[in-house]
Amino acid sequence: MAASLKIIANAPLDAANTLGFSAFAEWLVRPADLAELRGSLALARRSGWPVTLLGGGSNVVLFPRLEGLVVIPSGVRRWFEIDGEEARLHVEAGVDWPTLVEEVARAGWWGLENLALIPGRAGAAPVQNIGAYGVELADCLEAVHVVDLADGRYRVMARDACGFGYRESRFKNELSGRVAIVRLVLRVSRKARAKLGYGDLAERAAGAVHPLQVVEAVSAIRREKLPDPARLANVGSFFKNPVVSLEQAERLRVEHPQLPCYPAQGGVKLAAGWLIEHCGFKGTRSAAFGVHDRQALVLVHFGGGKACELIAFAARISAEVERRFGVRLEPEPRRLGQEVSPGLVV
Ligand SMILES: Cc1cc2nc3c(=O)[nH]c(=O)nc-3n(C[C@H](O)[C@H](O)[C@H](O)COP(=O)(O)OP(=O)(O)OC[C@H]3O[C@@H](n4cnc5c(N)ncnc54)[C@H](O)[C@@H]3O)c2cc1C
Repeated sequence: MAASLKIIANAPLDAANTLGFSAFAEWLVRPADLAELRGSLALARRSGWPVTLLGGGSNVVLFPRLEGLVVIPSGVRRWFEIDGEEARLHVEAGVDWPTLVEEVARAGWWGLENLALIPGRAGAAPVQNIGAYGVELADCLEAVHVVDLADGRYRVMARDACGFGYRESRFKNELSGRVAIVRLVLRVSRKARAKLGYGDLAERAAGAVHPLQVVEAVSAIRREKLPDPARLANVGSFFKNPVVSLEQAERLRVEHPQLPCYPAQGGVKLAAGWLIEHCGFKGTRSAAFGVHDRQALVLVHFGGGKACELIAFAARISAEVERRFGVRLEPEPRRLGQEVSPGLVV
């Protein structure tokens, strides 16, 4: 293992999650390259430690204690393989996603611009197939490079092997806790291919001839609608937009003609924010948590709260949505860690 590799015991993760929860990793490492990552995983195997991967902590609900080794891949290299007007962009897992999108657009490459200002690191982007303004990561992804946690084996997974769907992938399901994503290979192009057909974007980015103009329009819309986690702790959308059958959507539309519905794989996607708002939760507060006043899909943490309280608050909201509309909401962020048992000193 590289001599410089630092493994920290009882490491605080308060600054490593955008909900600002107080949490500790039993052991924490931030490997800067593949050799360090493999060395850390080998140590975890020898020590019998469970391994948890973490990026920027913008899509997790952290409970107070994470057992074993928390690994935050921190390689930040990125490079182009240019072929005429097209290019493959290789990006290491530790690269900050919003910085990457802006950098690539500024250089005149199209493909990532609609995914501007989504917090987090590149390594986490395939986990829930990040998406916004009519584009998903899968639309511009060619492959994901992973290391197997069980034996350190390196594999390249082609996009079609990743099982991408709406906020879904194999990394979130059967490969969760089994692989570390270490590199993405993205496809970008010099040829203009603006996708502006979603929401306010058509109007706000009308006539865009450079990808940076789209980045600026998307960023401006996002800043207007979403709370900045640096000022008000949150993880973006707390619930996925539910997908229901065509029959159920039609029944709901008869009773609620204003309910926003979108065609989706396997049925009809409903706007979870609308359902929550129409249960009267928008802008409400319960102790340390609240429902954002501009976007009901976002739950916010005012400080001093705990993960278990947020989960209970979210459960109350979903129960009410299910009672009123017969639709079950599924949380988007991943729960990591556990409560500290009484008497355990961290
Ligand atoms: C204000 C705000 C707005 C948001 N808007 C959007 C949006 O528009 N669209 C959208 O899709 N999401 C959105 N999100 C959610 C979030 O930004 C994305 O899910 C992002 O990809 C999470 O990145 P992260 O590095 O913070 O991941 P983390 O929260 O650290 O991790 C998320 C999951 O990925 C796993 N993971 C992390 N790194 C790796 C790795 N290298 N290998 C394997 N597994 C890994 C973790 O174990 C965890 O299960 C938003 C969040 C916020 C706070």
